[in-house]
Amino acid sequence: MRVIFIGPPGAGKGTQCKRLVEWLGVPQLSTGMLLREMVIQDTADGKWIGEHLAVGKLAPDHLVMSIVAKRLAEPDCDSGCLFDGFPRTLVQARLLDEHLARKQQRIELVLSLQVAESVLVDRLLKRAAVENRKDDNSHAIVERLRVFRTQTSPLLDYYQEQGLLVSVDGELSAEEVFSMIQRAVSMKSPMNHAS
Ligand code: AMP
Repeated sequence: MRVIFIGPPGAGKGTQCKRLVEWLGVPQLSTGMLLREMVIQDTADGKWIGEHLAVGKLAPDHLVMSIVAKRLAEPDCDSGCLFDGFPRTLVQARLLDEHLARKQQRIELVLSLQVAESVLVDRLLKRAAVENRKDDNSHAIVERLRVFRTQTSPLLDYYQEQGLLVSVDGELSAEEVFSMIQRAVSMKSPMNHAS
């Protein structure tokens, strides 16, 4: 099963993705993680990407798509995967659709985690203290929320029009959110997940 997770930074995507990955038995494909791995490798590309990430800007669409395509070519993605933080723009969504269509594959479900911005800022500042992520400073947080609002949220209409979107209240407890996610997955694909 191929599932996309959409949510602003701090919505709990990472936590819920980990649980869903275990439950579905498919790998998580986190572009944030893949990009951070590239930044650690001290190459010219890595440095350039690092400059985008540090200020909360998106990495270029075609570069992200090429990283995703490479990851999707690995055999563990054959039976599906969970897209975490990708696509983040309409261009990426269309590139992904085209890529999957070439392999006679498609997205089956898009989960949107909804959380108010005031709650997000609070969560992200708390996370900054624990995880020491470079992009969890207040300037980058404001920029990442703006980027979500302007560049990523149009995806909600894109997937709604395709009948793929299920919205979940991300302000509920992690357990409640996960059981709503399980329900959405079961309705889309009753035979295709762990019981
Ligand atoms: P995340 O770990 O998903 O919060 O992503 C961290 C950062 O990586 C984002 O703020 C962006 O700078 C970059 N990033 C992650 N995914 C994408 C994507 N799909 N397109 C462009 N940039 C991305």
